[in-house]
Amino acid sequence: MKFSVKTRDFTYPIVVEQGALERLDGVCDLERRVLVVTDDGVPEAYAERVAAQCREPVVVRLPQGEATKTLESWARLLQTLLDHHFDRKDCVVAVGGGVMGDLAGFAAASYMRGVDFYNVPTTLLSQVDSSIGGKTAVDFGGVKNSVGAFYPPRAVVIDPQTLKTLDARQVACGMAETIKMAAAFDADFFTAIEAGLSADDAEALIAGALRIKRAVVEADETEKGLRRALNFGHTVGHAIEANSALLHGESIAAGMLYFASGEARERIAALLRREKLPTETDVAPKRLMETLLHDKKAEADGVVVVRVDEIGTHRLEKLSQEALWDVLTQHASKGGRS
Ligand code: MG
Repeated sequence: MKFSVKTRDFTYPIVVEQGALERLDGVCDLERRVLVVTDDGVPEAYAERVAAQCREPVVVRLPQGEATKTLESWARLLQTLLDHHFDRKDCVVAVGGGVMGDLAGFAAASYMRGVDFYNVPTTLLSQVDSSIGGKTAVDFGGVKNSVGAFYPPRAVVIDPQTLKTLDARQVACGMAETIKMAAAFDADFFTAIEAGLSADDAEALIAGALRIKRAVVEADETEKGLRRALNFGHTVGHAIEANSALLHGESIAAGMLYFASGEARERIAALLRREKLPTETDVAPKRLMETLLHDKKAEADGVVVVRVDEIGTHRLEKLSQEALWDVLTQHASKGGRS
């Protein structure tokens, strides 16, 4: 399966194919210096398979996890590029999850004012969501994604076979973002997931999510309007993530239910439970509020949230700090239950 995504400057392909990792050189120009960026949570064989197809590969393996998404890691990648005399015609390939894509993408965006970037996402979350749309970033000053650039990849290569080695919790995180997109944009896709579509049928699931994400980012590449709706679940979700041991997708799962209502809320909660995702958090409303006000999404006169009142639709709403506090405390008093 092949999709293409239009950006302001060029169109790039997304290839979704069993075994695509072995045939990267058919999609990407690897006849040059290639920095392969991966982490120690990704099976070594994946980066090796990529490196084997490059004329001059340099592999960097970083520690797994969000804590790696720093300016220090970014500087380490830039130093490696300099040490190996990369020039503007060389390229960077990320092999891993969203952290690798964000970090390696930002290194590619900034080195010599930009070198080609290819993304090989190996987690369900990055395959359905973060690899598409050109957002790159590191965390800085205690704020997630506070330094970065819109920098689309030249190609995204998705090999669903990589999901076979992914642990169940990581798969569930990808389901959380998929459920999010279906809930806010596509009632038919949501119904298909309810009817049993899951990561067991990875190609169909990924294709469904990618169609939504592509349409949204093509309509609004730099997040001035429609794309903000992809933040459904993320306003409170990021605050939960920052204050708990939950993973990104798990935090977003719990975060969605604060801003869903009626039957839509019931249906989302039922899917989250089926995927063994959390529907509540034990982080106190006060902690969440403090983090929210520190977050870049908090503007002086309030916080923009995404609401889903009916599956397949969404609306943006600006909440004052008082109104946001009411949402947090009412949700907590309900025990987060639906
Ligand atoms: Mg997300």
